[in-house]
Amino acid sequence: MSLDRIIEILSALVAFDTTSRNSNLAIIDWIERHLDGLGFESERIYDATGQKANLHATIGPAEVPGYILSGHTDVVPVDGQVWSGDPFSLRVADGRAYGRGVCDMKGFLAVCLAAAEKMRADELKRPIHLAFSYDEEVGCVGARGIVERLAKRPVKPLGCFVGEPTQMGVVIGHKGKRSVHVKVRGFACHSSLAPQGVNAAEFAALLVAHIRGLADRLAAEGARDAMYDVPFSTPHVGVLRGGTALNIVPDEAEIVFEVRTIGADDPDVLVEGIVRHARETLEPRMTAVEPAAGFDFHVFAGFPGLDTAPEAEVVTLAKSLAGSNRHSKVAFGTEAGLFEYIAGVPSVVIGPGSIDQAHKADEWIALSELERCARFVERLVERCRI
Ligand SMILES: [Zn+2]
Repeated sequence: MSLDRIIEILSALVAFDTTSRNSNLAIIDWIERHLDGLGFESERIYDATGQKANLHATIGPAEVPGYILSGHTDVVPVDGQVWSGDPFSLRVADGRAYGRGVCDMKGFLAVCLAAAEKMRADELKRPIHLAFSYDEEVGCVGARGIVERLAKRPVKPLGCFVGEPTQMGVVIGHKGKRSVHVKVRGFACHSSLAPQGVNAAEFAALLVAHIRGLADRLAAEGARDAMYDVPFSTPHVGVLRGGTALNIVPDEAEIVFEVRTIGADDPDVLVEGIVRHARETLEPRMTAVEPAAGFDFHVFAGFPGLDTAPEAEVVTLAKSLAGSNRHSKVAFGTEAGLFEYIAGVPSVVIGPGSIDQAHKADEWIALSELERCARFVERLVERCRI
């Protein structure tokens, strides 16, 4: 496939404003039309509103195990960012392509779609699946639809390559994550009568202190994975709000926290421990004053970690296709954990561009990265011919 063709397709993809809050149906239409007539069988998997869809497209013999190329169609907002040009109009200059999503991760999608033009169903001994999702940027929401369907299929693919930006490095792990919102229900009264109320701000603070204690313990003596910059699991409180005036015992407070876990820790177990502390230690003190007081927990986002064995076949294959002997783990989450954890498909993350260029104003990708990714996909297709 030629770089010109990749750029042409990338330009079409960037022109769709697929910020996660928008419908992605227009870009899915475009991709489906592109794949129509190239010998792909496509299937849409809609969300509950019908405004967003994943696309799962297969070429080659579907009854034998093949490989998945996976990416998301949504991009992060440009709100508040100062761009030198229109973020949704591709600009090519000095060996780079600029535009929202070029790096994360429409560049990868463009390479896959250009490669699709060279795939011939009758030449493939193993199928290639394209799994394009929605709402990755808001917590890997969309891919769950694809992955859950995949988990039920009799033929399990041999491996999945998730094209998040790794500068074509082979990434075998990322941390798991759960994001939790907590509403603290207290009981208001005048501050001169403080013991007759339930101070939501103070009970929120007690829970925060517990989360911090857990973080300190994990940092000091928790399980270790030296391949991460932060080699242990990390609970973290990002939001703490409560109270309106000094002379009122606050009846409401709010905490938003997350846990990020290495492979040895289960994020759900850590969250359950925090919930248990609230239920068993803090709530009885609150309800003793006011029976309706307490905590409401809501896990609103998250994804499983990725922890592929370095000796797994999919890792060896990725290395041979990428022409590299190294592997690493990364700090950011991807859909790869879902493919591995829910569908049982061994997965690696490998894609063009650097995560440092993602999500920013004047997001860019080096054209040389697109070419390296093109070679990778071409070699994979070659591998499926024999
Ligand atoms: Zn991404």
